[in-house]
Amino acid sequence: MKIHKQIYGALALNSSLGRSITFFMCALLLAGVATSSWTLSRSWDRAVEETERSAINLSVSQSRQAEDTFLQTELALRDIRRSLPVDNISTLDRGRFDGLLAELRERLPQLHGLFIYDAQGNMKATALSRIPVVSNNSDREYFLYHRRNGHSGIHIGHVISSRSTGELVIPVSIRLSDSAGGFAGVVLATIRVDYFRHFYSYFELENRDLLALLSVDGTVLYVRPFSDDVINRNLSGSPLFTRELARKDRGNATWVAALDHVERIFGFARLERYPLVVVAGYDKPALWARWLKDSLPDLVLNGMLLLGTLLMGTIVFRQVRMNVRNQTELAALRDELTSINHTLQLMALADGLTGLANRRQFDLFLSQSLKASAISQKPVSLIMLDIDFFKRYNDFYGHVAGDTCLRTVGEIIQKLKLRNNDLIARYGGEEFAIILPDTGPEAALFVARQAVTAVRSAKIPHARTGTTHHVVTISAGCYSLTGGADDDAVRLKEGADKALYMAKIQGRDRALANPES
Ligand code: GH3
Ligand code: MG
Ligand code: MG
Repeated sequence: MKIHKQIYGALALNSSLGRSITFFMCALLLAGVATSSWTLSRSWDRAVEETERSAINLSVSQSRQAEDTFLQTELALRDIRRSLPVDNISTLDRGRFDGLLAELRERLPQLHGLFIYDAQGNMKATALSRIPVVSNNSDREYFLYHRRNGHSGIHIGHVISSRSTGELVIPVSIRLSDSAGGFAGVVLATIRVDYFRHFYSYFELENRDLLALLSVDGTVLYVRPFSDDVINRNLSGSPLFTRELARKDRGNATWVAALDHVERIFGFARLERYPLVVVAGYDKPALWARWLKDSLPDLVLNGMLLLGTLLMGTIVFRQVRMNVRNQTELAALRDELTSINHTLQLMALADGLTGLANRRQFDLFLSQSLKASAISQKPVSLIMLDIDFFKRYNDFYGHVAGDTCLRTVGEIIQKLKLRNNDLIARYGGEEFAIILPDTGPEAALFVARQAVTAVRSAKIPHARTGTTHHVVTISAGCYSLTGGADDDAVRLKEGADKALYMAKIQGRDRALANPES
């Protein structure tokens, strides 16, 4: 509640200027934040898009390179198969074929070795000068595969360690069938994993950026920058195989790599002829860090703009607060002056002792009433009231008591049930007057008698009065006329005075109407 009030005060929300400026500043801040966020978010999106494009380009170009590598190998294997006496593999002229294989191997830098095996798995020729210790490969996966499957295309196996050199190689093999279609052996080419390692090292990639050659069954053939431990790891559970490749042969996606749990932006491309896929993955956290570094000037600039706006807002709000405070103070001062003015006006028109209308107000009201009477042609009545033997009262009780008596008589007259537009005034000294607009002589005399009775009934002691009851009494005289002439006020006052005089003469404590009215 307190904070709410503080905010309310700080933003000067109690003034329309404060509210407008708060609205404007909020809109400005919101627009600033929205524009900055939008620009930055666009810039990040662009960075991601560019990386996605690079990833797909790299994976596609590397899939072409891998395709060429394996195509050249396939053509070499097919050449060898064509030149072989398929029905007599066991009696092969080893010297001739060793030379042929060596020659082919020289031409293809990706090749580690070329081998010919007979139907029992015995090596019948090799491009390698060194004959491995174990020269029967009938236990190898590719050998078993071709013995089992009759198709004449090439088979690409998982990475193995060469028995001749110990190097990591990818076996690419083709079946030899005799003229009857029976299994006659295998021609094998081994592609060095180092060939890909070397090739992939040409690319300028960050530490954790990834470039991989995988079998479509999810087996790793080679992944940069990982150690050879990951070779032959099965990644078939990765989103690449479970989701992406199921939908399309090439594309982009972002996922967390199973090998090291780093999120990467991937591009992938499946080879057209071979069951292989090339994947390029860019380290997303590193991209974020780079983008952040590049965007830092923008961020700082935007922050400074925002701070500048806030600072400006603070200054403006301070001005507004001061303005509002000044206005509030001025309004309070104005109200105070109005109230003082009002009091002064009242004081100017009121009698200080009794609080009744004073002589000034009496004159103004009488003149207005007579003007209204001239228009409406309805009579105005005046009652003059005078305390009886008041000099004696003063002499006996003293002037202070005299004043109190005057106040009391004023209150008694004020309590008479008069209409709202009648006016009771202290005319002067111990004399009072009642102006009754729209009132004829009878009604006026009735009111005058009420006043006389009321004062008498109040039983204010007056030891020295000349009347019978020894209480304060008043005498009243009434006069009525219908306005129109210039001297109406004088005539009215004189008429009422005359009646009052008559009342005094006749013994006081009574009300009389002037018979001329
Ligand atoms: P009458 O019955 O004929 O009216 O006799 P009276 O004594 O009332 O009349 P008079 O005019 O002789 O005396 C009026 C007195 O009223 C004189 C004065 O001492 C007193 N008086 C006038 N104004 C005031 C006032 O403001 N305060 C007090 N205490 N006395 C006042
Ligand atoms: Mg008098
Ligand atoms: Mg008197």
